Amino acid sequence: MAIQSAVEFFKNLPPKLCSNCQQEVNEMHDCYTHKCEKCEAEENK
Ligand SMILES: [Zn+2]
Repeated sequence: MAIQSAVEFFKNLPPKLCSNCQQEVNEMHDCYTHKCEKCEAEENK
């Protein structure tokens, strides 16, 4: 029951936006970044 509630909670979260270009971020990797892959790549140059 508790696990189901958690799933519902995450479903209802708004999409994460890139802090740099405001594009929706694919949450493939986790919260260590708030940037999209493109901006992250730029930063890691
Ligand atoms: Zn970006």
